[in-house]
Amino acid sequence: MTKLEDGSEKGLKGHFKEDYSVRTRTGLAPRAGHIERNPPYKRIATEEAWTFPDLVKAQVEYLNSGEAPNDDSLKMAGMFSRMPSLQEMLQDLGDLRLAHMDEYGIDRQLLLLTAPGVQVVRPGEGTPLARQANDIAAEACRKHPDRFSACAAFDPRDVAGSVKEIDRAMSQLKLNGAVLNSHFQGRYIDEPEFFPILEALEAHDAALYIHPTAPFNAPHYEDRGFYGALAGFPHDVWLHTMGLIFSGAFDRFPKLRLVIGHMGEAMPLQLYRFDWMQGNADNRAGLRGGRPPVKLQHPVSYYFQNNIWITTSGVAWEPAVKFCMEQLGSDRVLYAMDYPYQQSSDEVAAYDRMQLSPEHKKMLMQTNAERVFRIR
Ligand code: CA
Repeated sequence: MTKLEDGSEKGLKGHFKEDYSVRTRTGLAPRAGHIERNPPYKRIATEEAWTFPDLVKAQVEYLNSGEAPNDDSLKMAGMFSRMPSLQEMLQDLGDLRLAHMDEYGIDRQLLLLTAPGVQVVRPGEGTPLARQANDIAAEACRKHPDRFSACAAFDPRDVAGSVKEIDRAMSQLKLNGAVLNSHFQGRYIDEPEFFPILEALEAHDAALYIHPTAPFNAPHYEDRGFYGALAGFPHDVWLHTMGLIFSGAFDRFPKLRLVIGHMGEAMPLQLYRFDWMQGNADNRAGLRGGRPPVKLQHPVSYYFQNNIWITTSGVAWEPAVKFCMEQLGSDRVLYAMDYPYQQSSDEVAAYDRMQLSPEHKKMLMQTNAERVFRIR
């Protein structure tokens, strides 16, 4: 990646608006509308980002040290660190965030440590930073029990440390699930050495939210301006999700629960084809570095209807919501805003106006999140 004179990296800059107060609308975005102030449901937003100064410092220090691998995900952290208004919103777990929630009618945020999180810092620093993150998030939840819930961070490169931290975060801190910001230096938790993490999540009945990050060493994305939502983000979570399914993780841990955002990163629209093409990878020898073949117990679509939930983050689009509720199950689609990256009153109003039955609307906005993330 080319360094520009102002210290920013060519390619990443311009993927994200510097000024997050500017709202833009696309052709498909709903027209501006009034937010219903007393809807017959609570709005629980389930993919809401935050971070804290020590983590940003550790990311930037490693990035600037010249000792880090060429990790576009870490470079993205560097870019975010240079956006003061974004950092102000990300780092606030009090008045500013609550004021924005009130403005947009959000009753509760599920806090997720923002991408790329603790999995890009110096090896060895990730688990202590995850512990710190989880203590801070738990404190915010204790302070504002009606407004915040949180997923636990962990650094998958430290498997034993992750298992221990997931244990602590679920048993002692009473957090609501766990979050992984997709790949870590090009690795994925579909490899058997990471299965103890999946086992711990299943044992605690803790949902795992896999959130996007910039793809690893992907100049072909960078050259086209596609690091983020236009391709890189959904592609990386797609790969991670497919990898987990074909690793046999859900057969081995049948109660494991996975949540993916951005309308399931578009995967639900392809279920028919996934089932048709399952043989490309199912029970095939020679894959994954020559490991023994894995034979799935079910069609791919089964896992989307039994182990996977999706959130709507950034896609306030009625046809997509309806399709996913119909094909995955009305209990499998959860509302998310994606604060502060995509906050908009138009979006909230669009959910209010969606032509869903009152029962399904309440499931989408409130009760599915309460069940999946054990929010009481
Ligand atoms: Ca997000």
